[in-house]
Amino acid sequence: MPDLRPWDLRSRYDVVIVGAGPAGLAAAVGAREAGAEHVLVVDREHEAGGILQQCIHHGFGLHHFKEELTGPSYAQRYLEQVLEHDVDLLPDSYVLDVDPSRRVSILSGRHGLREVDAGAVVLAMGARERTREAIRIPGSRPSGVMTAGFAQKLVNLAGYLPGKRVAILGSGDIGLIMARRLVLEGAEVVGVYELMPHANGLTRNVVQCLHDFDIPLHLSTTVVRIHGSERIEKVTVAPVDEQFRPKLDEAWDVDCDTLLVSIGLIPDNELARSLGVRLDPVTTGPIVTSRMETSRDGVFACGNTVHIHDLVDWVSQESQLAGAGAGAAAVGTRASPDNVRLIPGTNVRSCVPHTITTEREHTVYLRVTTSIAPCTLRFGDVYERPLRYVVPGEMVTVKVRPRFLQDFHGGNLTVHVVPREEATA
Ligand SMILES: Cc1cc2nc3c(=O)[nH]c(=O)nc-3n(C[C@H](O)[C@H](O)[C@H](O)COP(=O)(O)OP(=O)(O)OC[C@H]3O[C@@H](n4cnc5c(N)ncnc54)[C@H](O)[C@@H]3O)c2cc1C
Repeated sequence: MPDLRPWDLRSRYDVVIVGAGPAGLAAAVGAREAGAEHVLVVDREHEAGGILQQCIHHGFGLHHFKEELTGPSYAQRYLEQVLEHDVDLLPDSYVLDVDPSRRVSILSGRHGLREVDAGAVVLAMGARERTREAIRIPGSRPSGVMTAGFAQKLVNLAGYLPGKRVAILGSGDIGLIMARRLVLEGAEVVGVYELMPHANGLTRNVVQCLHDFDIPLHLSTTVVRIHGSERIEKVTVAPVDEQFRPKLDEAWDVDCDTLLVSIGLIPDNELARSLGVRLDPVTTGPIVTSRMETSRDGVFACGNTVHIHDLVDWVSQESQLAGAGAGAAAVGTRASPDNVRLIPGTNVRSCVPHTITTEREHTVYLRVTTSIAPCTLRFGDVYERPLRYVVPGEMVTVKVRPRFLQDFHGGNLTVHVVPREEATA
């Protein structure tokens, strides 16, 4: 992405955005459209687009652009908008710290160590993958064990095939996408092993990446040992009982030269933590208002750093809102405060944003704990609507309009997803 000349970097910006992934780029557009004059986006990478740069498959932008784009094309669309909006971009630069007065410390290859004051800050640092260490798989430590995202980078950006006979632990979207990619690149994928009784990725990815390529998906199954000295030679896999305890007497060995680990993403929240922003213990990202403002005045957050999204389209929508909130805060045109707190109830793991108002329309993103079909989504006893199905691997996106809440005058509103008969009983 274009870099600033050292003398063009201002000492004060209306809005500083940390991260130039899809979240940061959309936030920059939102901030400019809300009236912020000077907006800076900082990223540690050389190119904008975040993780989308390595996602060369189709399927991005169906909701937002009503077109099927690759990850890099989706990022390019937003980068063009950012450039049209005259936003300053600072690549190859790492944000070390944001202090409570919104002074941002940046370590940059070209500009050295710089401090920039901001009227508002948007945190858009994305997420990172959980590794083998996060679940402590017993066995040796040979080469050939890596996260699915790292394998995606090797194949799609560096042009290397990580192995020829691959096992995949976990059925997150990145693992599913990589199962198909590796088969297309000439490797054999021997199986995907998922601890839970359901797949963790989108249904469309299970069908298009596994079923269409005859790759077996073993549910309620996990890897219990890794074997090999220099290079991985095989894994032992075993079914698990209802308490997720491996049934070792039913275990079997699978020969492989590569194990991809696809066991979920964790919001990158170090900056939020050091700023003392309140975090949601379930999502592990910041608690946010309907404008995506955190518990720290003038600090906003969006994208995977708040909660893990499965579609980038929702990242853009949410982040444009965060940018607009930050832009408005910086120029002193804030909206009225929220008056409804959303509480996750039956079968609801998380709700984002955490608060809304009865005055405006909102998009609320939910994650459920178990699959139900058909079901009913209930906001307390003031609003309900039918849903065809819910599964834990797919985020539920709901528009909440002011007329749905016209009989509610503020306070706590518990959100439930229950089987259809139970709701009508
Ligand atoms: C490995 C991986 C593969 C994925 N593959 C797919 C896929 O195939 N399909 C799909 O739909 N979704 C995929 N996703 C989900 C995808 O992450 C989201 O849809 C979307 O990219 C999230 O956007 P974001 O901007 O929040 O985060 P990101 O895209 O992760 O962008 C965050 C940006 O912040 C920058 N950053 C972080 N910390 C700092 C700092 N301190 N200073 C400066 N810059 C910083 C990073 O360099 C990065 O550019 C994948 C995610 C991961 C992690």
